[in-house]
Amino acid sequence: VPMSTEDLIRLGESRSAHNYHPLPVVLRSAEGAWVTDVEGKRYLDCLAGYSSLNFGHGNPAIIAAAREQLDRLTLTSRAFLHDQFATFVSRLADLCGKDMVLPMNTGAEAVETAIKVARKWGYEVKGVPADQANIIVMEDNFHGRTTTIVGFSTDPDARGGFGPFTPGFRIVKYGSVEAIREAVDENTVAVLIEPIQGEAGVLVPPDGYLTAVREICSDNDVLLIADEIQSGLGRTGDTFACDHEGVVPDMYVLGKALGGGVVPVSAVAANADILGVLKPGQHGSTFGGNPLACAVGNAVISLLGTGEYQTRARELGAFLHARLRELTVPGAGGFAPVVAVRGRGLWAGVDIDPSLATGREVSEALMRRGVLAKDTHGSTIRLAPPIVVTEEDLGWAVDQLAAVLLEL
Ligand code: PLP
Repeated sequence: VPMSTEDLIRLGESRSAHNYHPLPVVLRSAEGAWVTDVEGKRYLDCLAGYSSLNFGHGNPAIIAAAREQLDRLTLTSRAFLHDQFATFVSRLADLCGKDMVLPMNTGAEAVETAIKVARKWGYEVKGVPADQANIIVMEDNFHGRTTTIVGFSTDPDARGGFGPFTPGFRIVKYGSVEAIREAVDENTVAVLIEPIQGEAGVLVPPDGYLTAVREICSDNDVLLIADEIQSGLGRTGDTFACDHEGVVPDMYVLGKALGGGVVPVSAVAANADILGVLKPGQHGSTFGGNPLACAVGNAVISLLGTGEYQTRARELGAFLHARLRELTVPGAGGFAPVVAVRGRGLWAGVDIDPSLATGREVSEALMRRGVLAKDTHGSTIRLAPPIVVTEEDLGWAVDQLAAVLLEL
């Protein structure tokens, strides 16, 4: 007898660490933008694996590439080469407009890679005295969960109890050009930034901010590292969120959607004068750049190459944001349940009036109506459906949100 939702939740909870608080839904299958639970109930996926499923669940081109590779060769380790590696790294470097890439698996690993490369570049190329390098990071950042990364988080939950932390990071206010200018000194090797802060609530910085940050970095021989793990690969309506201002970082950090929702694939892309500081034995990963990852990554790069997904995210995003903005207009009682809507492309942070409900309560009510979304930071709902979603489904999801807010 198949186990019920309740049984599966109870067993999973009793035998796993409680480092997540998932919505009480147990999924079994999915296609496109829709997922189905073990009871057969369907939901519109408005989280897309935190933007890992930009191309949809079971994207035919990605699944075909994975399947073909599964039957041939899945792992070599980097001790040997395989036939998918060269095409993947060269095509990803081209997509990024960079000389080369370094493939890893998870986002946090790619961020760690960027930090290590920036420091080594600082000592060997910029001439920073040994162990004196500093990296400027942003308040409310989210770059992953390793001990070094949580050490420069400003979220008490992310860092509390995990010290002592890696030194060498300076935290400044996100969106403030002046704060970066004041923090830079001769030992600064990098500015590490999310072009749009995802986990913080889809925070879009002021116009011209990224351009100004780029300028400060160039003027001070400092590397601009864009963490595009969540913002990149189509989500915002461009290949990279940095494209919106025509800003070119020195290093792109990619992950999530690069693995097509199939396997973890991450990478750092940069020019040879930067990534070239790494020599054999100085960095690595058993699974980074494995054949299955490269085959899937190659399929993802092909999908992005058509520009179709970027355009779709831009057009559907305009529709989504227009519909969401309607919820900020006060009704008959002079009261609007939504106090702010932020984002770009098919990516939105919706702030619910905190006196009405928590984001969690709204997410649970949405779930009951067949929409899976996740709250972040108190009363914010994040919407980031797969880019294959239809306008009709997107409109329906906003209708469900409106209905939930009306019931509060
Ligand atoms: N960087 C950003 C901007 C992210 O949004 C995330 C994940 O949410 C990460 C890094 C960490 O990626 P991972 O969970 O794959 O380690």
